[in-house]
Amino acid sequence: MGTSHRQAPIKDLVGEIRSGLLEFFRAPEGYEVILGNGGSTAFWDAAAFSLALRKAQALVHGEFGSKFANALTTPWLEAPTIVKAEPGSRAELYPEVGVDLYVYPHNETSTGVIAPVKRINGDADALMLTDATSAAGGVDFDLSQTDVYYFAPQKNFASDGGLWLALVSPKAIERIEAVAASDRYIPEFLSLKVALDNSRLNQTLNTPAIATLFLLNDQIKWLNRNGGLTWAAARTKESSDLLYAWADAHPKAKAFVSNPDHRSQVVVTIDFDDSVDAAKLAKILRENNIVDTDPYRKLGRNQLRVATFVATEPSDVKALVKCIEFVLERMS
Ligand SMILES: *Cc1c(COP(=O)(O)O)cnc(C)c1O
Repeated sequence: MGTSHRQAPIKDLVGEIRSGLLEFFRAPEGYEVILGNGGSTAFWDAAAFSLALRKAQALVHGEFGSKFANALTTPWLEAPTIVKAEPGSRAELYPEVGVDLYVYPHNETSTGVIAPVKRINGDADALMLTDATSAAGGVDFDLSQTDVYYFAPQKNFASDGGLWLALVSPKAIERIEAVAASDRYIPEFLSLKVALDNSRLNQTLNTPAIATLFLLNDQIKWLNRNGGLTWAAARTKESSDLLYAWADAHPKAKAFVSNPDHRSQVVVTIDFDDSVDAAKLAKILRENNIVDTDPYRKLGRNQLRVATFVATEPSDVKALVKCIEFVLERMS
């Protein structure tokens, strides 16, 4: 922990993370892993400075999609086209002339809505950007269907926050180089060209949290050893299915996301009818050391929200369901 991130032990660690992620995500030829400090929130601004040319189209059906769209609303870009849907559902991106960046959250963490990783056909020059912060590592997909798949490691990668990582396609690398060569002002911290050059040397621009890198590398190795993305996705599916099946069968509960195709396998949201005070339920669970079942604060629904990330044992999710049942039977 005390050594410089320019020294071999740390550079080797970053190198292992970069190659481990290429293996885990079955990266097509030419894709690279780049990283930098500041978490996914910093990447939103980096995308606005370093990837957007003129105009983006953004899928928004919750808090995180909305923040990404806001970051792409800048003085040097045209206002993005917002494709909006009600929280708990989603709409579809569509081909639009003049758009050079299509952006969406893979998993809308505030509501538990999943979106397919799929290219918009029709424009070979436009880039696809996927905010995969809560999905990455727990949901299977085809990386060739996006140009930038970015995330922070505090969710399925069971590490800590403060870092962003992105798998970038050759097309995205070309765009990064072209924007950096233009006359646009780009702060060094938000320059993906600077991040790309440093990442190729297994470094970050400034000092990263070494513990975050260590925990991330450990989780990637654990995932790859166990069967990679296919295994991870089957495990989160098993965990989330336990909760969805319970909610479907319970007379007072139901899945918030009504369309089963939109339901996330890594964040499960369950609505309760008026006879149940879900906030009280979450509070009682917390008093008994079963924590973080609370809904997203700004959504304001009578619901529980449970992360079924890959590090969680499905047997623990089974035990959680029993605990919820136990409390519900005794609440009035
Ligand atoms: C958690 C989350 C973020 C924010 O990540 P930070 O590292 O805290 O900036 C962004 N997008 C999604 C989809 C998330 O789930």
